[in-house]
Amino acid sequence: MRRSDLIRSKIEFTADLLAGLYGTPKLRRPEPSKILDVLIATKLSQNTTDKSSYKAFTQLRSLGSWEDIAKAREISIRQCIKVCGLANTKAKDIKIMLGELLAKFGTLDLRFMKDLDNETIYKELLSLRGIGVKTASCVLVFALGRDIFPVDTHVHRVLNRLGIAKTSTAEKTFSEVSEIIPEGRRYELHTNLIKFGRNICRAVNPHCSACGLYEICTFKERKKRKSVNSASANENNFLILEEI
Ligand code: SF4
Repeated sequence: MRRSDLIRSKIEFTADLLAGLYGTPKLRRPEPSKILDVLIATKLSQNTTDKSSYKAFTQLRSLGSWEDIAKAREISIRQCIKVCGLANTKAKDIKIMLGELLAKFGTLDLRFMKDLDNETIYKELLSLRGIGVKTASCVLVFALGRDIFPVDTHVHRVLNRLGIAKTSTAEKTFSEVSEIIPEGRRYELHTNLIKFGRNICRAVNPHCSACGLYEICTFKERKKRKSVNSASANENNFLILEEI
C-alpha cells in the first residue's frame, strides 16, 4: 500500500474509533458576532489550562466592550488575565492587536468576515500581532463554522505518535495533514483528538493500556499493554471554546 493510502486509511480508522468513544460532535453553527471573542479566548488559552483561560477571559470582559478594552491600559489588561500565565506577553499582544484591528478596519465588529473566503480570513488574521495558524483556524471553526482542522499541541502529538504526521511543530502538522482529513469530519476529528490526547495519549505517561489505537501506534516509547481499562479514565473534556 502506498504511504498516502496508508495515511488516509489510518485517519479514517482513527476518526471512526474516536467517534465510537466520544461521539460525533457536529460542526459549529456560525456566530460571526463572536469572532473577536474566539480570537482572544484562543490567545488566552495558550500554555495554560482551560479553566484558567476561561477565568482570564471573563475577567477581561468585565472591563466592558472590546472597544473599552482597546482603550484600557495594558496594566489593566494584564491584571485581568494574570491567572492564565504569560500575562505580560498576552496583555501586550492583545492591546496591540486590538489597535491593529481598529487601524485597519475602523471597527472591532468583525462580522464582515463571514463573507470572506478561508484564505482571505487566514491572511487577515495572520497579519495581526501574536496570531498564529492555530488561533486563526479556531476562529474559522468556532466562530464561522468552517470545515477546518485546527492543530494544537494534543492533535500534533497524537498524530505524530500514530505515524499520521512526521513533523516537529503543530504548524507543520497542520500543513501536512489538514487537507487530507475527510471533508465534513475535520471538526469532529479535531475535537475528539483533543479529548483522546488529554485523557489517553497524554504528553507524559500515556495511558497505552487503555488505548484503542494501540495496534496502529508507531510511537517508539509506547508502553507494553497490561490490561484494557476504561478508555474514559481521568476524563478531562472541558474545552474553553465550547464555552465562548
Ligand atoms: S498506544 Fe500509547 S502512545 Fe500510542 S496512541 Fe495509544 S496512548 Fe498514545
